[in-house]
Amino acid sequence: MAADYVDWLRREGRIAIVGASLAGLRAAETLRAEGFAGSLTMIGDEPYEPYDRPPLSKAVLLGKASPDHTDLPQRRDIDAKWRLGVAATGLDITAKRVRLSDGDEVEYDRLLIATGVRARPWPNEAEAGLDGVFVLRTRDDAVGLCRRLGAGARRVFVVGAGFAGSEVASACREHGMEVTVAERAGGPLVGALGGVIGAVAMDLQLENGVDLRTHVTVTALEGDSGGKVRAVHLSDESVVETDVVVVSLGSIRNTDWLAGSGLGAGPRGIATDAGCRAFDFRGIVTDDVFAAGDVARSPHPLFGYQFLSLEHWGNAVAQGETAAHNMICPATDRRPHMWMPAFWSSQFGVNIKSVGVPPMADEIMITQGSLTERRFAGVYGYKGRIVAAVTFNNAKWLEYYQRQIEQGAPFPVGYPTMDRRPEGRQPMPADFPDPSLPTHGPTVTLSGYSPADRRMVFTPAHH
Ligand SMILES: Cc1cc2nc3c(=O)[nH]c(=O)nc-3n(C[C@H](O)[C@H](O)[C@H](O)COP(=O)(O)OP(=O)(O)OC[C@H]3O[C@@H](n4cnc5c(N)ncnc54)[C@H](O)[C@@H]3O)c2cc1C
Repeated sequence: MAADYVDWLRREGRIAIVGASLAGLRAAETLRAEGFAGSLTMIGDEPYEPYDRPPLSKAVLLGKASPDHTDLPQRRDIDAKWRLGVAATGLDITAKRVRLSDGDEVEYDRLLIATGVRARPWPNEAEAGLDGVFVLRTRDDAVGLCRRLGAGARRVFVVGAGFAGSEVASACREHGMEVTVAERAGGPLVGALGGVIGAVAMDLQLENGVDLRTHVTVTALEGDSGGKVRAVHLSDESVVETDVVVVSLGSIRNTDWLAGSGLGAGPRGIATDAGCRAFDFRGIVTDDVFAAGDVARSPHPLFGYQFLSLEHWGNAVAQGETAAHNMICPATDRRPHMWMPAFWSSQFGVNIKSVGVPPMADEIMITQGSLTERRFAGVYGYKGRIVAAVTFNNAKWLEYYQRQIEQGAPFPVGYPTMDRRPEGRQPMPADFPDPSLPTHGPTVTLSGYSPADRRMVFTPAHH
């Protein structure tokens, strides 16, 4: 990038950010903090200024916070033109224009795409539309669900026991509701943390009174004559009566609006280089389109340069900041996005945290504490290296393991650790489900090349 172009861009260029949420906001703040003085347009299809999602399945459902009071703190004035309640519907990367749902177009010199993911809806549209069937991704979803739970719902059925589904189950049990959870895998959180930890999460749910059904799928949602959901049918032929269904089947990346744009965008997200620049569908990096947050997937040197798709709050912040920096700096000052994947959850009174990429692992060792006490640190290994760690009520160890992952420390862990029980002395299979089977569980996915993404015909050169 020529230095005079960068100077001009910083002074009077036009930057558009599509997706006015966590990654988009943090990017906008960084642009201004690093001296971008040109025009900035924030495009968001939700009618709200950026708000925080993690509280929606925690404090908000528990009644400790109102869904209307989860606005993200704005760290500085971003002096932007806000286009809220308007979706981007198309992108022309040659003319550098974003098309909007109201017919307008926004021209840009640099574009950041931060459109995140949406909740995967129940696949049968008529059943999904029954009164009392919810997903939980947005503030509006939370308002609807809280209102229904507060209006005397006694029985809640949660489809899917990933992090979000388990948090919903936990909150509803705290409210004293009868909760049934159905999960295709052998336990909760199995897609994200594997079967060993899933077994601990299963005990936790059972002890807290959840009617947990594993190795089953939901086959149908049944409504009454008034169109209100009344029962859930399962693959083991059982039928569970309920007042509310929360569908928690993972997410879909918001890339549909990019169809035909020529970007390397699809169901797995938008592929970028390590500096957040989007690839076109031929695998050639663009210079003026960047992506960050849940919608992006980018290569990570610590994990074999595989593309990682992350649905982590901290990643959205870090990637938004890095993308913004790289958008307005000379090429030699660009930074790679090398954030260590990190995730937290709280459910049934337990604080769960992880770093690294657990689903990459094939083995796990419990290095502190004990599974039965539900206070432990577990370390995941792959090909002789530590690739991830998880803690239950033991977060103080996580930073240490993060450094171990960064240094490529050997696995199994040979050194003695405090407080290790006999069960932790040997590595055991981490027991992740077959990655080719559908699972909504992981919040971090290795999303490398998929033959399904193939859009070009390969023609070998003839000499
Ligand atoms: C209930 C819940 C609980 C969570 N809990 C945790 C947790 O405990 N820990 C953790 O690490 N992470 C958690 N997360 C994940 C975390 O919230 C996300 O990683 C984070 O919100 C990602 O930010 P983002 O800006 O990339 O995407 P999003 O927050 O998804 O924002 C994308 C925005 O773009 C908008 N958009 C989409 N398409 C268009 C379009 N075409 N035009 C205009 N706008 C568009 C969307 O409507 C949305 O407003 C949770 C998420 C949810 C939903």
